[in-house]
Amino acid sequence: MSAVPASGCATRPETVRTGLTVRAERGQREVFCGLTGIIWLHRKIQDAFFLVVGSRTCAHLIQSAAGVMIFAEPRFATAIIEDRDLAGLADANDELDRAVTQLLERRPDIRLLFLVGSCPSEVIKLDLARAAARLSRSFEPRVRIRHYSGSGIETTFTQGEDACLASLVPTLPEARADAAPSLLVAGVLPDIVEDQFRRLFAGLGIAPVQFLPPRRSTELPAVGPGTRVLLAQPFLPDTLRALEERGATLLPAPFPFGADGTTAWLRAAANAWHVGDGRFDAVVGPGEARARQALERHRRELAGRRVFLFPDSQLEVPLARFLSRELGMELAEVGTPYLHRRLLEAELEQLPDGTLVTEGQDVERQLERCRAARPDVVVCGLGLANPLEAEGLTTKWSIELVFTPIHGHEQAADLAELFARPLVRRLRLAV
Ligand code: SF4
Repeated sequence: MSAVPASGCATRPETVRTGLTVRAERGQREVFCGLTGIIWLHRKIQDAFFLVVGSRTCAHLIQSAAGVMIFAEPRFATAIIEDRDLAGLADANDELDRAVTQLLERRPDIRLLFLVGSCPSEVIKLDLARAAARLSRSFEPRVRIRHYSGSGIETTFTQGEDACLASLVPTLPEARADAAPSLLVAGVLPDIVEDQFRRLFAGLGIAPVQFLPPRRSTELPAVGPGTRVLLAQPFLPDTLRALEERGATLLPAPFPFGADGTTAWLRAAANAWHVGDGRFDAVVGPGEARARQALERHRRELAGRRVFLFPDSQLEVPLARFLSRELGMELAEVGTPYLHRRLLEAELEQLPDGTLVTEGQDVERQLERCRAARPDVVVCGLGLANPLEAEGLTTKWSIELVFTPIHGHEQAADLAELFARPLVRRLRLAV
C-alpha cells in the first residue's frame, strides 16, 4: 500500500458542466498499487505469466491478495531484488535473465510473459524495457515478453490493468486497411460476462467482435482504422491512447453498470452499426427488463440512503451514477483518484446537480468530511475500512468491485447487492 505525503492543498473547483464542479485535492493518499491487477489479469489471460521484479513486500502483497494456490501451478511470481542488488553490488540484469530462463524452461505452457516493474525496480532504475527486448531475442516467437509498471509510486491499483493492456497494444496484429469495421471491447471482463455480451452483439448483428485482453495470447485482436473501441472499464486512458495511435476510434458511452448504463453502452455500439430500434429492443429489451425488476428489491432497501465514495478503484463516478439514478441513493461525496474527463463525459452528465466530486485525495480532510456526513455506506479501500467500521460506519471494499462480475444486465442486481448487503448486515446487528 502506498501513502504519498504532499502539500495537502485543495485547488479551486473546476466546472465540468453546468451544475457540477470537481475539486482537486493533493495530499496523503491511501491506495493499493498496480501490482494488484495481476490477480484478475492472470485469471483472464490463461497462458500468461506475470513476473514481478520487486521486493519481499511486493511478493507478500501479491500472495496475500491472491490467496495461496494449492492445486494449480501459479502464473505469477516475484523475482526478489535482494539488498545487495539495491546496493548495486550485483548485476540485477544477469539475475533477471537467469530467473526468466529457468522459469521458461520449466514452464512450456507460458506463451506470454510480463515483466512487471515495482517501486524497488524503479528506485534502482532497472530498465525492464531493455530487459524485455533482450529476453525477447532469446525466446520469441515461442514466448512473447512484454513489460509494464505496477509500481505504487503515484499510482492507484486499477492502473496496473491499464499499463498491462497498453503494453500489449503495439503487439496487436495490423487489421487490413480495407477491412470492414470491427468492434473491440477493451478491459478485463469475467468470461461469463464476456460470453453474455458476445451473444448480445451477435443478436444485434454486430461483427466481428473482439476482446482485449483475449483469453489466450494467441488470440490477440487485430487493430486498425476500422476498429471501433468500446471501453468496459473507465480506467484505461493509456490503452485507449495506444489504440487510437493504431487508428482505432472510441465509441463514447456510459459504462455497462446497471440497467441504464448497460443499455446505453450497447446502444453506442448498435448506433455505430446502424441497428434499428426494433431489433435493438428485441435483443436488449428482455435483459434490461430483468435487470430493472431485479433492482427493484434493492431500490427499496437503498433509496434515500447516503453513500460516500473514497477515491480508490476509479469506478467511483460510474458507480455513483448507478447508485443515484437506479437505486435512489444520495451521494454525500464522490471521490476518484483521477478524473478522465473524456472517458467519463457521459457519466458526469448524469450525476445529480451539486454532487461533490473530488479528484485526488487528502485523506485526513476527507475522513473529516466523511465523519461529518455520517453516510449509511462508505465505499473505500481496505486500509480505511476497518478504522471506519470501528467508528460505527458501514463500509464496502472498493477492491471487491473489481473482483466481482458487475457488468451487464444480468449482473445489475449483484452489483446493487454489494451495497445492500453490508447495510442489511449492520441493521440486523443493531437489532
Ligand atoms: S510495488 Fe511498491 S507499493 Fe506495491 S507492493 Fe511493491 S513496494 Fe509496495
